[in-house]
Amino acid sequence: MKKELKKNEDYWHEKLSPEQFYVMRKKGTERPFSGSLLYNKKKGNYVCGACGNPLFESKTKFDSGTGWPSFYDARKNSIKLKRDFRMIIPRTEVFCARCGSHLGHVFNHPKNRECPSGKRYCINSIALGFRENKR
Ligand SMILES: [Zn+2]
Repeated sequence: MKKELKKNEDYWHEKLSPEQFYVMRKKGTERPFSGSLLYNKKKGNYVCGACGNPLFESKTKFDSGTGWPSFYDARKNSIKLKRDFRMIIPRTEVFCARCGSHLGHVFNHPKNRECPSGKRYCINSIALGFRENKR
């Protein structure tokens, strides 16, 4: 991971689209099944939509049926987690470790072939970019 990126909210307001700003800086959630990367099956890396930090590898992506891109693991040291008590049942928030942008939540998930870790990183598509592996 590159050095931590500290920017103020004015910077992000300029840089991000209104939808991205709402999700990534205001901790919003995009509508399910609305994201452009939901059905992406190409090989590559999912990166932070705000700063480009590589977060998830395509091999860890699986179809959870929830309507948001789901991954069973994140790249080492690419994300930070924080308990979120805004709902009755506490959730664990997922942030980009480099720029601090909100990405989504991580949930316990039944362990199976698709989700061997038993953790499901439920990530807003709009908070992600995709870099295809070209060979
Ligand atoms: Zn970032």
